[in-house]
Amino acid sequence: MNKFVMANDSDIISGVVTDVYFEKTKKYLELMHSNPFVSMEITTQSSTYEYIDFTGLNDVISLLKSHNLSVYALPEGTVIKPRDVNGVPVPFIRIQGKYLDFAELETPLLGFICQASGVSSYSALIKKSLGDIPFISFGIRRMHPAISAMIDRSSYIGGASGVSGVFSSRILGIKPSGTMPHALSLILGDHEAWKVQYENSDFRVFLIDTYMDEKFAAMKAAEEFPDIDYIRLDTPSSRRGNFPNLIREIRWELDIRNHQNIKIMVSGGIKLEDIPELVNAGVKSFGIGTSISSAKPVDFGMDIVNIDGRDITKRGKFSGIKNVFRCPECHTVIVQVSSEKPSCSCGHKMDNIMKNYMDKGKIIFDDSLEMIRARSLNEIDSILEL
Ligand SMILES: [Zn+2]
Repeated sequence: MNKFVMANDSDIISGVVTDVYFEKTKKYLELMHSNPFVSMEITTQSSTYEYIDFTGLNDVISLLKSHNLSVYALPEGTVIKPRDVNGVPVPFIRIQGKYLDFAELETPLLGFICQASGVSSYSALIKKSLGDIPFISFGIRRMHPAISAMIDRSSYIGGASGVSGVFSSRILGIKPSGTMPHALSLILGDHEAWKVQYENSDFRVFLIDTYMDEKFAAMKAAEEFPDIDYIRLDTPSSRRGNFPNLIREIRWELDIRNHQNIKIMVSGGIKLEDIPELVNAGVKSFGIGTSISSAKPVDFGMDIVNIDGRDITKRGKFSGIKNVFRCPECHTVIVQVSSEKPSCSCGHKMDNIMKNYMDKGKIIFDDSLEMIRARSLNEIDSILEL
């Protein structure tokens, strides 16, 4: 019996975490002795994100690796619009094999990429909006603990400079980042809490809104510990009034007392649309939680595009086995059936950006997390537009 109301690894791999119509379809096809060789493609009609920062392929490969299938996909961390320059949907993954070898895995497979890509795509927007100003992903407490590492991984790829989850360091190697909780000030009092943080942490961030007005607490913290890195405001919504103006006031009071070195970090309910005004007010670091961890999933769908060599698909989809070409210069994307490199209207030859990740069950391409993040950061910078 599972202890929590959730599936474990073997439940997911065995295919029981599926929709019942796939179980029925398998049964009927077996009755009819039909098991064709199919190509299936994953595309999205999503209008939630203008650009998708694609993640979750790692878990798709883990799910499919014991099956006799071939998998082609855009690399994780690719930042791309859901349709090409001609309006053709971009295939993010292509799976080829006998239909009955993976029919019921469509449900978990889509779940892996829909949610992960939603988190990374939203994080990418925050990263683009912030530029070099760092943000830490704080939001795992708002979601089911079973997916905390997925949230941290996706937000890290999407540009978070750090993530708060301790478990993520264990299975992903991302060193967790954090400041101090209100509990520490409540138990020890502000001064003792600041002191113990000052003496024991190399990232000196003081939380200053537990008991006092933020301005007077900031001045007190700066006077007692003038070489700290940040003061952090997690001001409750009932006290916010005009949050940017509160920050401007604190910045002013610190500056005229020669505490220009102490920067301001904010957290608590921050969304993408709040960022420009907070940056303008002088915020130099962000802790962003729920808006990242509860980012809307990308609604990827998976469809047959070829059966036993015959191009065929349902209404509303584009049949045929496709490749995705992108211009290395102007980033124009063209989806086409031919594998021959087209020329871009800017004059450059385009590259096929779909990679072969798995060949008949054998993994042949495996990116490290740091490679994926570097790709994503580069593409957020050069391709994504707000
Ligand atoms: Zn071009």
